[in-house]
Amino acid sequence: MTTVVPEISGAPPGLPGELDHFIDGAWRPSVDGARFGVADPVTNQTYAQVAAGGAADVDRAATAAHRAFTGGPWPRMLARHRALVLNRIADGIEKRGQRIAELETFDTGLPVSQARGQAQRAAENFRFFADVIVTLHEDAFRTGTSQLGYVIRTPAGAAGLITPWNTPFMLETWKLAPSLAAGCPVVLKPAEWSPLSASLLPEIMTEAGVPDGVFNLVHGIGEDAGAALVTHPLVPRISFTGETSTGQVIMAAAAPLLKGLSMELGGKSPCIVFADADLDRATDSALFGVFSLNGERCTAGSRILAERAVYDELVARLAARAGRIRVGRPSDPGTEVGALIHPSHYERVMSYVRAGLDEGARLVAGGQRPAHLPTGNYLAPTVFADVTPQMRIFREEIFGPVVCVTPFDTEAEAIALANQTRYGLAAYIWTTDLRRGHRVAHTVEAGMLWLNSHNVRDLRTPFGGVKASGLGREGGHHSLDFYTDSRIVHVALEDQGVPKFGTEGT
Ligand code: NAD
Repeated sequence: MTTVVPEISGAPPGLPGELDHFIDGAWRPSVDGARFGVADPVTNQTYAQVAAGGAADVDRAATAAHRAFTGGPWPRMLARHRALVLNRIADGIEKRGQRIAELETFDTGLPVSQARGQAQRAAENFRFFADVIVTLHEDAFRTGTSQLGYVIRTPAGAAGLITPWNTPFMLETWKLAPSLAAGCPVVLKPAEWSPLSASLLPEIMTEAGVPDGVFNLVHGIGEDAGAALVTHPLVPRISFTGETSTGQVIMAAAAPLLKGLSMELGGKSPCIVFADADLDRATDSALFGVFSLNGERCTAGSRILAERAVYDELVARLAARAGRIRVGRPSDPGTEVGALIHPSHYERVMSYVRAGLDEGARLVAGGQRPAHLPTGNYLAPTVFADVTPQMRIFREEIFGPVVCVTPFDTEAEAIALANQTRYGLAAYIWTTDLRRGHRVAHTVEAGMLWLNSHNVRDLRTPFGGVKASGLGREGGHHSLDFYTDSRIVHVALEDQGVPKFGTEGT
């Protein structure tokens, strides 16, 4: 990799000017030499040329991963030995925490204070799955005195990991840690808008002792590199996080090969605030839930449903607080909302702001670029009130700092509104009536629900959505179930009664 210092204001020192693939233990440009430019979201200037992977590059990486699977030590190691390597990866991430956060912030526009937290979580992902594999057991089933069945769990093969641009490093490690823990060599295809932090992974992996061919990184455009990975015959598992529409394309492409798929897709999660809720905490949580990570968060509580008795009060609080959120340079430690990832995403988010206005929603905060930030992909935290379920801003994922507020009168109406979307990723419920809290949690269609809490994760719990938000679960043993095949061995402990075919007349 060549290193240049681009003349971009605010660029971290030592920025690589070119990013290559990492295949079978070595950095490599694309076979055909193709590259694409990547820009930062503050200046929107190209800072690096990235190797644009195609089918030939994916084939090299998949072949290396397959070779590591069929003949290499990684899938055969004792769990304890793999766990030691995973812990060394976590050490390497922690050691580079500052650098990871600074690159992530520069590349994605995430506020640096939040990017630091994401780097810590990335290390924790490896430590956690190191613990999971050493404590993992295989089931045994005894059928009276006659038979014993025991499960053997084996790594499924090379895994293709396709990740989005929001919190890229954390999400990459959320897939890398369990797949490597399970013994699967991997081919990682990071999002094309945010390739920078992944370029630290090869050094981290090599330093930790990951054998060549076990970790492969192929950059590229989704429709090229991503699509080639999805259809590569030597990659039996694809773990994908991204948009629902991309997930549909991937499922269709993978269907003829009958691949195992994990689909973590979009969301339009409700935050339901009943009149008896602790309104101070609910307000804090609702604001953090939708404006942290620039609103570019799959589990964002982007629809706030408020019981009529507290509706006006909540709208007033949200509007006032949103207006005081510090929008600014992502690298400023005081920034709460930074710059959106890319001009075309910015334009998409702005088109939803226009749609909200056109459809008659009441804009009570934001809706435009902050006056003190004349350039860069900045949007002031935006609150729309009186949003109805027919409006596009209620139904469609915006993936930016925009929240809709809608009133309801009864619990049944709150549930109906919450479910009036094709998505079902997360839901947040605020009430001091615990019976109602549980009742609503059991009825709202979402994979993950939080009662009187914001998005606090326990890595053992199932992560994923229902409806258009995904298929399959990641987290804890759910991830390991995905990256392994469970096989059952049945053993007769006594002579079994075997029907005697073909014995008549003998
Ligand atoms: P995206 O679907 O555009 O891209 C995601 C990845 O898929 C990228 O690496 C891209 O290059 C690749 N890709 C695109 N087309 C492909 C194809 N035809 N074949 C194979 N790969 C292809 O998503 P995005 O815009 O990067 O991310 C934002 C979306 O991700 C939002 O919808 C968000 O809700 C979702 N998301 C979901 C979760 C979750 O856990 N459910 C987490 C984070 C983000």
